[in-house]
Formats: sequence, C-alpha cells, structure tokens
Amino acid sequence: MAVAIDDTIVAISTAVGEGGIGIVRMSGDKSLGILNKVFKHVKGKETLGMKSYTMRYGHIIDTSTGETVDEVIVSFMKAPNTYTREDVVEIYCHGGMVAVRKILSILLKNGARLAEPGEFTKRAFLNGRIDLSQAEAVIDLIRAKTDESMKIAFEQSQGKLSKKIKKLMDKLLGMLAHVEAAVAFPEDDIENVVNQEIIDTGREIQREIDGLVESADTGKILREGLNTIIVGKPNVGKSSLLNEFLQEKRAIVTDIPGTTRDVIEEYINIKGIPVKLVDTAGIRHTEDIVERIGVERSKEYIDRADLIIFMIDASRPLENEDFEIIEYLKGKKTIVIVNKMDLPIKVDIDFIKDKFNRDFVITTSINTGEGIEAIKDKIVDMVFEGNVSSRDVYVTNVRHRDILLKAKESVGKGVEALIAGLPIDFASIDFRDAYLKLGEITGDTVEEDIIDRIFTDFCIGK
Ligand code: GDP
Ligand code: ZN
Repeated sequence: MAVAIDDTIVAISTAVGEGGIGIVRMSGDKSLGILNKVFKHVKGKETLGMKSYTMRYGHIIDTSTGETVDEVIVSFMKAPNTYTREDVVEIYCHGGMVAVRKILSILLKNGARLAEPGEFTKRAFLNGRIDLSQAEAVIDLIRAKTDESMKIAFEQSQGKLSKKIKKLMDKLLGMLAHVEAAVAFPEDDIENVVNQEIIDTGREIQREIDGLVESADTGKILREGLNTIIVGKPNVGKSSLLNEFLQEKRAIVTDIPGTTRDVIEEYINIKGIPVKLVDTAGIRHTEDIVERIGVERSKEYIDRADLIIFMIDASRPLENEDFEIIEYLKGKKTIVIVNKMDLPIKVDIDFIKDKFNRDFVITTSINTGEGIEAIKDKIVDMVFEGNVSSRDVYVTNVRHRDILLKAKESVGKGVEALIAGLPIDFASIDFRDAYLKLGEITGDTVEEDIIDRIFTDFCIGK
C-alpha cells in the first residue's frame, strides 16, 4: 500500500464546546516549522530548538495581523516515538470555541492541512505503529459504553487480537512453504508425510479460529450494546423497572447524527454490560412500545432484539394479551419477570415456568426490591453464557468475525483437497486465500477503500 504522507495535518482534538482547555494537534514533518511561525516563547527562546518531549509557555500570534491571540503551552514530540510516528506538536490553549478555532485557522494559513476524521490514527496505522485491528479499537475505546467494554477495547488496542491473528498467519505461511516444497520435489516420497503435517496444522488453525469466534457474540454485545426490549401489558411495572435500572448508573444517550430525533439510543449499564434500549421517533420509551403501538408492531421490535424482558403482574390473572405474547416469545431469548410479588398472587407461576425456560423466570417486587439483583445477574449470565469471561473475549467487531469465518472455510477447503488427494496446488490456493483474508484484520492485505471506510467512522482530531 503506497500512500504518500508528506503533508502536515491539524485538528482540534478536544470535544466541541466550552472546556477548561482546548488542544490543537498537528502531525507531520512541518509541525515544528509551522509552530515556529506562529508561536512566541515568553522569554524569546527559539522554537526550532525545542527538544523532543518538552513544553513551552508563550503566545500564539496571528501572522496576518501580528496580534496576540491566546496564551498557550506547546509541546513537541519528535518522530518516531509519537502517536502517529511523525513529529507531533500540541497546543494547549483556553478551551473556548473561539480560541481553538482561531488557532486552528492560523495553523491552516501557515501550511497545515485540516485532518480528516481519524487521520491521526490512520497515520499511526499507515506508518506501522499499530495494525488495523488496533486502530479500530481506538474508536471503540472512545465510544465504549461501560468499563467492561472499555477494558476489552483497550486490550485490543494493545494488540491482544493482532497477536493471535499474526500467529495464525505465520502458521499458514509455514503450510504454504511445505506445500511449495512438495510441489518442487514431487518425485520424493515426502509428499504424504508432508500432507499429513499440513492437514494437522490446518485442523489446528480451524480449532483456533473456533476458539476466537466462540465469544464473538459476547464481544459484539460489549462493543455495540445488548439490544433490549421490555414488553408487557400496561401497569405491570415496566417503567418502574426501567427507573430501577437507571437509578444505579447513568444512561448514555446518543443521538445518531443525521437522523436527529429519528432514533435515540439509550444505554443502561448493567454490571458492565451496555444494555441498549432503542427508541424510535415518537415513542419516548421503549418499554412503552406495546402500550403505544400495539402487539403487532411490537413483534417487529421483538424480532430484532437480542433480549426480551417480558413482564407480568402477579396480582392480576393472565389475559389474552399475555397468552398471545407468551406464544410469540416461544424460543426467543426472553427473561420473564413476574412482578408485584408483594401483592396477593393471582397468576399460576408454575404455568409460566412451564411455558418458558424456568431458569429465566424471575419473581420480583420493585416496591420491595426483591429480585432486582437476580434480573441483573441473569442478564450478565446470558451475555457471558456461563463460561466465557471478558478475558476470553478477542473478537468484538463483526468485520473481524466474518473474516475469521471465511478464513476458516478456506483452510477447510484446502484440508479437504489434500484428503481427497487432489493436486497439492489446489490446497495451496485455499491456504493462500485464508492468509490474505486474515490480513484484512491486521490491515496487511486490505483494500484501501475498506481502510477509508473504517477511518471515516472516527471523530475529527483522533
Ligand atoms: P407500566 O405501565 O408497565 O410501565 O407500569 P408502571 O411501572 O408505570 O407501574 C404501574 C403501577 O404499578 C405503578 O403505580 C407502580 O408504582 C406499581 N408497581 C410497579 N411495580 C410494583 C410492585 O412490585 N409492587 C407493587 N405493589 N406495585 C408496583
Ligand atoms: Zn410505562
């Protein structure tokens, strides 16, 4: 991948809005030279003489008017020991929008180019400091919704997945070398011995990929959130449950850009799991879906959910609407909550336990607090499926999972070809495919437009 990175980029790296300080960051060869034109050290020291990893105090001067714009601290980090592996300059200024914008515009006038979203991280990738999966983890880190999601994103940014993928790629290279040797010396009787060795390694790779994707569903939930819908008749206690959940941890509300007010995602942090309650236009609370749009429309939401929380009021006998929902929820990932256990009980709880997996029927009273912990524990159990812990999670990104599965398929084809006694070149093609596939995770063999697409998802200044 030949990409010329010869210009110096600049962006505001802190969040938009008012803040204590703002940071404007430059990366590229000309960073220090540009700083030199616009920065005046308080004691008149020469900027070009700045040592790597030092800071200086002074002022930013508007070069077109000679006017002093802001008092700042600047830092200089010399390539290659920087985020991008290029020279990096950071300017710490007063955190109002005017100050940071003004400084940005002065840097632009003096030879820097406005960075695209994610371009700093993209350079870190293109310059070989991190691989593509590590770069992807950077955005996951920024967007992490719970401490648990953040931990996993951090580990990926440190190369936890990359190391595994590189090992698999090395194994495939070894297999290809063997295949090549067998092709080069067909008359030697080594072919059969070699084949068995290759078959064994192929199987090993398949098992390792299985191990990696095993926890991918958990990983996806930690990265993207558990799509959840609360259903049940009016007055069973849905709002009360939601409030109970919201009390403990702050929900993160994201307006998806461009679709203002069309879709609002709310995340509740349940013991480290980001539980996402999707709310579409006009329906303020997901829990009210059944109340507002009726059973038919709510079925659509139910079908798309990762988890359905179905609530029943223990103090009222079941009605047709309950039975209809019960039928519809058959075989779906459901936690049934039999609420208001503090009141005289009018439902047959055994009947409900027979209709669902009895381990997933929880009796609660939101008034007394009974059963609330049990609901949370059940959600955690479901996400981690009993045996996986976050330590076992390597794959969180659907892109990575899909690639791994395709690579596994190619390895499988190659192994089958060897077993079937087909000419060894056939297997060679399949193993090469698998190798190239895995390289799309690390970024070694990925198309440029895919890289571009990944980085456009980033925010400006990262
Ligand atoms: P929703 O219509 O399903 O959202 O139900 P709400 O959460 O609005 O609750 C309806 C009523 O039931 C409210 O008056 C709540 O205070 C009450 N409620 C909720 N949970 C319990 C419970 O566990 N026990 C009792 N006795 N009342 C409850
Ligand atoms: Zn309600």
